[in-house]
Amino acid sequence: MANLDVTFLGTSAAMPLENRFLSSIVVSRDGTLFIFDAGEGMQYNFIRARFGFNKKTMLFITHMHSDHILGILGFFQTLSLQGRSLPIDVYGPKLLYDFLKENLRILGINLSFEINIHTIDDNEGILVTNKDYKIVFCKSNHGSDICSFAYCLIENSRPGEFDIKKAKELEIPEGSLYRMLQNGENVIFNNRLISSNTLVGPRRPGRKVGISGDTRPSNELCEFFKNCDLLIFESTFKSTELGKAKESFHSTALEAASLAKLACVHRLCLTHFSTRYRNLIDLLNEAKAVFSDVDIACDLKSVSVPYRK
Ligand SMILES: [Zn+2]
Repeated sequence: MANLDVTFLGTSAAMPLENRFLSSIVVSRDGTLFIFDAGEGMQYNFIRARFGFNKKTMLFITHMHSDHILGILGFFQTLSLQGRSLPIDVYGPKLLYDFLKENLRILGINLSFEINIHTIDDNEGILVTNKDYKIVFCKSNHGSDICSFAYCLIENSRPGEFDIKKAKELEIPEGSLYRMLQNGENVIFNNRLISSNTLVGPRRPGRKVGISGDTRPSNELCEFFKNCDLLIFESTFKSTELGKAKESFHSTALEAASLAKLACVHRLCLTHFSTRYRNLIDLLNEAKAVFSDVDIACDLKSVSVPYRK
């Protein structure tokens, strides 16, 4: 069982407020950090959330707008000053490479750790994959002149439920034999072949967390976010500002909730709020009208993503 938690380092769109920093989300899974976007000053809440400076970390940039990327240099410099040694893999649009290389050169920043920059030029695909999870991306729609991506962390399925009662009845000792059976191996015990599937149920699905970045809703994203356990979707505007949302290629709270419903997601969390809204209750209410399991993100809020029953 792996822990899976989401922490919002910043939830404001375009500029900060006294209680809202710019976009940055940390998904923490069993000690590995997946950071989505690096809004200006994001290292401040990163420090306050006590994530530590030398955890295995991957950074994913949704698009090259300043409120999503300007914090990356300060963040890296802070990690470096703290003596980070582990490399960081950074993924994002093509311009990310020049942005990082040029700025690190101009500012004369010599990092204490390596950064591996991976630029994305497909419409969708897999960025990271291992035995436990994968990170996938899909092109989003933040205007024709901006390359933008949405991301999902998708866990691989996990072993089925282990029938301890039955194992005890068969007098199998706890420990390595339990582990082997749970991992799908058949074992020989007391000269008897015991097959895994007599004690272990069908494999159980892993969890899926989606991050929209800045975007208009689309059928492609609806498909991409299908069955998310937690979907984090931008909600820059209220429905009364739908015109502005369309013009600036953002979404309203109602649109985010409608997409969540269509995509059959389990829970929705809204983020990336226009600074015109000091109070977010109206955004929450309009989303709740179409999708009940919705919440509003706020800076430093953490949300756990449990396994579904
Ligand atoms: Zn943007």
